Amino acid sequence: MPFRFYNYERLSRAAARLREERWEPLVPIRSFDAAEDGGALGAQPPARYTGQMQVGDYWQGYDRWLWLRAEVELPAGLPDRVWGRFCFGTTNGGATQGFESLLYVNGEPWQAVDQNHQETPLPREGKLCLEFRLWSGLTDQEPPHPVEHKITSAALALLDENADSLYYWLSCLLEAHSVLPDDSPDKPRILNLAAKAWDLVDTSGVSREAFSRSCGEAVALIEKTLAPVEKEVNVTVVGHTHIDNAWLWRICHTHEKCARSFSTVNRLMERYPEYLFLHTQPQQYEYIRQDYPQLYQMIQRRVQEGRWEPGGGMWVECDCNLPSGESFVRQFLYGTRFFEGEFGKKSTFLWLPDVFGYSAALPQILKQCEIDTFITTKLGWNDQNQLPYDTFYWRGLDGTSVLTHFIKGDGACSGGTATPRQIASVWESYYNKDLNTSLLTCMGYGDGGGGPNRDMLESARRVGRVPGMPGVKVGRVDQFCQQLHKTVEENPRDGYVPVWDGELYLEFHRGTYTSQAYNKKANRRMEFLLRSAEAAVAAAACRGRDMEQPRRQLEEAWKIVLCQQFHDIIPGSSIGSVYEDSHAFYAQAESLARQALEAAAQPSGEQGLFTVWNNANWQRSSLVELEGDFTGRHLRLEDGTVPPQALTQGGAVALLPLPALDSVKLLVKDGPAPEAPACATLLEHGLETALLRLEWDENGQLTSIYDKREDRELVPQGRKANAITLYEDRPRNYDAWELEYSHRRKGWGIGAPTAVTVVENNALRAVVEFRYQFGKSQLVQRMTAYAHTARVDFSTWVDWQERELVMKADFPVDIHSNRARFDIQFGSMERPTTKNTSWEFAKFESVGHKWADYAEPGYGAALLNDCKYGYDIHDGVMSLTLLKASNRPDDHADQGTHTFTYALFPHSGEWYQAAVDQEAWELNDPPLVFQGETAPLGGLWQGDVPGVTFDAMKVAEDGGALILRFHEKEGRHARVSFQADFQFQSWCPCNLLERQEGQPHTQRELSFTLRPFELKTIKFKL
Ligand SMILES: [Zn+2]
Repeated sequence: MPFRFYNYERLSRAAARLREERWEPLVPIRSFDAAEDGGALGAQPPARYTGQMQVGDYWQGYDRWLWLRAEVELPAGLPDRVWGRFCFGTTNGGATQGFESLLYVNGEPWQAVDQNHQETPLPREGKLCLEFRLWSGLTDQEPPHPVEHKITSAALALLDENADSLYYWLSCLLEAHSVLPDDSPDKPRILNLAAKAWDLVDTSGVSREAFSRSCGEAVALIEKTLAPVEKEVNVTVVGHTHIDNAWLWRICHTHEKCARSFSTVNRLMERYPEYLFLHTQPQQYEYIRQDYPQLYQMIQRRVQEGRWEPGGGMWVECDCNLPSGESFVRQFLYGTRFFEGEFGKKSTFLWLPDVFGYSAALPQILKQCEIDTFITTKLGWNDQNQLPYDTFYWRGLDGTSVLTHFIKGDGACSGGTATPRQIASVWESYYNKDLNTSLLTCMGYGDGGGGPNRDMLESARRVGRVPGMPGVKVGRVDQFCQQLHKTVEENPRDGYVPVWDGELYLEFHRGTYTSQAYNKKANRRMEFLLRSAEAAVAAAACRGRDMEQPRRQLEEAWKIVLCQQFHDIIPGSSIGSVYEDSHAFYAQAESLARQALEAAAQPSGEQGLFTVWNNANWQRSSLVELEGDFTGRHLRLEDGTVPPQALTQGGAVALLPLPALDSVKLLVKDGPAPEAPACATLLEHGLETALLRLEWDENGQLTSIYDKREDRELVPQGRKANAITLYEDRPRNYDAWELEYSHRRKGWGIGAPTAVTVVENNALRAVVEFRYQFGKSQLVQRMTAYAHTARVDFSTWVDWQERELVMKADFPVDIHSNRARFDIQFGSMERPTTKNTSWEFAKFESVGHKWADYAEPGYGAALLNDCKYGYDIHDGVMSLTLLKASNRPDDHADQGTHTFTYALFPHSGEWYQAAVDQEAWELNDPPLVFQGETAPLGGLWQGDVPGVTFDAMKVAEDGGALILRFHEKEGRHARVSFQADFQFQSWCPCNLLERQEGQPHTQRELSFTLRPFELKTIKFKL
């Protein structure tokens, strides 16, 4: 181009004006009837409107709901291009805070009206009753303050469809021009075409008709020039809205976000036959099923048409660091059953764009849930290293692989616009160009919902026809996945097919293992309680009792727990009111689970008798605590043996030998228990048992943990173990989410204890209490050493009143190794303890479930916990992160009392020889004690299965069968045999969806060879 014609600037301005010029004014609305609204779920338009609001008025509130009504009589004979145009307030991009509304037309939920959806098609004749349910939104900062909005404009207009089309063509061409590189030959061609088209437009202002007709001619020129052609690079665009089930709003608000978003989808589908929409998370469909039956029927119809894709796999898009393996299974089980039951459809892909790291247990679980593809994008947020692949096989803990694809480019998770900028970025940022040229992206506002608007659908129609842009089609994700499998298997470009082995660790948001400690604890407790309750219910069902009601209660409880595992709830990244709700939800789940457990166990309540149930699948020697006054009395087993026991402050403790998966009766008899010497010798600043000698300094920190069995000192010379330390926690951003490496630069101890008291020293255990005061907080810690195990417990009560500090317990140990092992879902994994590379460095804090083990060959120490997840094992120090206290988005996060227990377990031999996992189980799931006799709880299984954990013993979802699930836990090939000791017709292996795989068997003996960490499920037909 020899001269500067300023065509780009000139045409950009013309397009911006055309945006308004495409509307022909029809009926202005100047005032509304108004009514307040209490915010009930699924509220319908009110019968009475008591107030008035004018266009131009302001309204404000925090979580305020308001109805507006206007009635409009349309003249006869209008064309079918009547639209409403409304501007009532400000919403941010993904409707995460701020104004949103749902428009009802003649009493029907019609479409969302918000800042991103200001226009809606309307019926072209008759009397229209327009009713808007406005929501002020919340604020992004606590404490809450009201938000102000303005009723800026409201009108009905006719859309000039020629001008509209030209507006979208010009916008698309101009953006493509700005995105293409300067040396692209397509760049001047595109601009020339736009200029030539604009030359045809009659802007004389003489006649609307002439203007409209000339716009049509301009469009015809563009469309003739840009006939659709096959392209080598293609992008599938799917309509989608990411709706966080809670985040900067509560779950109750999510119900309404879904209603608004889904009604918009339906309205636009009427106008855009090519529009396809993906929505995940059955939980949100369930909200609509309950609150908006009309919308739900619409969804069912759209699903049947093949235009609405219920996909994703899980009940909610859950966090993948913290939930247990069995929780993952239930996410898929209930998710799949919902989609199949309601729509007759099933997802073949897992969709988790926004989750903070992905467990290595997932590939095996996916395969056993009939899901063959995993789609995400979040790993692009890594703060140190970028994964070098976007399309690859992801190999999990047990060796199972799943095809995985990362959505790349702008708007990958939410906020995609289908504009040239986004579409170009998808291909530009993709790593595996040698392997695959068909990519996927989404369009639609998201996070807080909203979904696609008309601008996006119009852009998606045009962008693929523009030279230099990838081809674009609106498509379904399941079809994209099928195509991707074909491409990778056939590999027509002879590209490299990468494999990533192990966890997909997110190098970001490491504070989410710790934030909102209450939810972490409630989740852990519920996972174990549900396992016990299900096992009890299954035992009753096996004996012919009708357990349908308790089974339903357990399903309901599970769904509450699964919902709380959503990727902004359990990680701790939501506002405070979400966690106030969590307390009530968890209380409800616990009550349901306890009712089911009681119904199954039917404890008689008889005094003087206890039933103690070991629902672990191994024999154990457990310390059982009993409440009550046992003075002058003793405990005796049914066979007459008197177990080791002692009186405590509130009752008694006894060390009981417990058979695997069975119960024993414990009788209270007159006469004191035989005298037994105390297990610990008290030293001036320490104590000594038969196994260990512990010494502490004036701050209560351990200067010595001497293991007498191995003649070995565990604390390095001059160091202190169980050093409770407060570190500065002021990250760059994302307060609740982050824990940055730099937190270790500054740390403060909690000082000397105000009191040290020996609380107990008897035949079974010695308990020493340390009381601390620091800052505005108090901490009481009971250190317990036992006669029967080398485990040392630190049971902790804290009134935590600090801000922007993170509390850790540090244990320097004299062990040399460059690996540590961490308990995760359905197994355990090693991570380096070195920082040789940026990949190793990035894992300075990582997830462990019940335990982490640090060992040399033949000797090690495990750090166990009953509700914590953040571990840091580096440079010979084992640390557990105990509490955080971030200010955003919850300015009271974690303030108040907490109780938790962690423990150090020094051991000889390897972790599996030392039964580290079993010891951690003891801390998390002690035997259950019932008052009186119970219905039989055990006796279903015979045989010893070392190296295997029974994860679930439950009634099958469809009834009439018992499900047993177990996994190999030592990471090696193993042979297991056991016997089923109850009446059944047959058994067969099944997958995690409880579908039969293989032939039925009838023998009582079950025998399997398991691969390392293999997960197996057996279905017994009753
Ligand atoms: Zn999200």
